[in-house]
Amino acid sequence: MRIDTLEILRCPFCGGPLELVTSLFHSRTDLEIRDGVLACECCTFPVVDGIPVMHLRPNAGLARSHVEQGDPDLALRAMIGLERPQDAERFEAAARTSSSTFRDIVEAMGSGFEGGYFLYRFSDPTFVVSQAVVRAVASTVLRQGGRAIDMCGGSGHITRSLLDLSTPPPVLADLYFSKIWLARRFTAPGCEPVCCDGNGGFPFERGSFAYAMCSDAFMFIWTKRGFIDEMCRVVDRAGSPGTVVVTHTHNQLVWSPSHGNPLTPTGYRGLFETRRVRSFAEAGLFHDVVAGGPLDLSRGDSGAALDTDPALTLIATDHARVFSKHALEAPGAPRGVYRINPLYETTTEGSRIRLKLRFPNEAYETEYGACRAYLPDETSIESAALGRLQAGGSTDELSDLIKRRAIVDLPRQYY
Ligand SMILES: [Zn+2]
Repeated sequence: MRIDTLEILRCPFCGGPLELVTSLFHSRTDLEIRDGVLACECCTFPVVDGIPVMHLRPNAGLARSHVEQGDPDLALRAMIGLERPQDAERFEAAARTSSSTFRDIVEAMGSGFEGGYFLYRFSDPTFVVSQAVVRAVASTVLRQGGRAIDMCGGSGHITRSLLDLSTPPPVLADLYFSKIWLARRFTAPGCEPVCCDGNGGFPFERGSFAYAMCSDAFMFIWTKRGFIDEMCRVVDRAGSPGTVVVTHTHNQLVWSPSHGNPLTPTGYRGLFETRRVRSFAEAGLFHDVVAGGPLDLSRGDSGAALDTDPALTLIATDHARVFSKHALEAPGAPRGVYRINPLYETTTEGSRIRLKLRFPNEAYETEYGACRAYLPDETSIESAALGRLQAGGSTDELSDLIKRRAIVDLPRQYY
């Protein structure tokens, strides 16, 4: 973790500041703490492989005792959740190898990590809408600077969309250590990961951020009122109430896969109490994105549109310009590397590559089949054109397939 993160980090229980306990084992440079123990007036928390662990779950206690005993490797094993030595060694070998991909390390972790769907995350309909909303809102409210936090951001797919908008770099917070550890290495390099529990007080000082978001996770939070209070608190700076965005939260009135514990549209609005919040039905935003823009955040969705949509987006901000029409960003230089979407089966036919859409299984198709609205069933690409694009050439030649997400900008060493 960056040393300057201590300026915003606070104990989730007593609210006090934290400092590195220098009388215990620690490793640090002038800029970063790699391993050690942080203390406030009430608790101690471990820093494991550069990530502060700001909760008191059993794995955190185990990791803290390993750090105190000067064994950071065992602390990392405890946080990744690897108990058997052979599993831990397989993970550590993959982690040590610089050529390991995101997929290699997920496989070495041996978990049913996100059901393997992470591979397709960058083109699934939930992501596509959330990304468009995040880019539109965050680029508007962070134009004059300010920091973003992606709460419950998992393995950092959406955090990646904040990397060039947030100053200092965005904080990625999640309870699952292995996800944020992967995010820092692959999906959102440069982000500041913090391991914490969204069902409690957030481990940050009031007003640490200008923009707080939570994507595709809020329905899994039980303490929803406390969560929104905390989102509002961490963006509350004197004179500027900041911006809170919740994308893709399920609707209690409409069943959806991985339903969680959602509220009704009215229930969600009530959580914001005195703060003004606008709600959007995801279908309308999805339609805007599929149509190529603009993303119309000036719309006022009817009660019926909200009540019948499986997923909602909530935006609380005082920046009036957020609630307008936003052009979608045109394809440009990739953040990672342009590759053929892994949902396609490819065969080479002479000088062309033929692409055929193939879902990994029926469950994926049930949950994410709406991607057919933009992913062509079949298409083909001139091999040389893909080569030129991957060599850093202009996106003009293949811009249509990039817009349709048949070609996606993926993190380096993703799979
Ligand atoms: Zn404390």
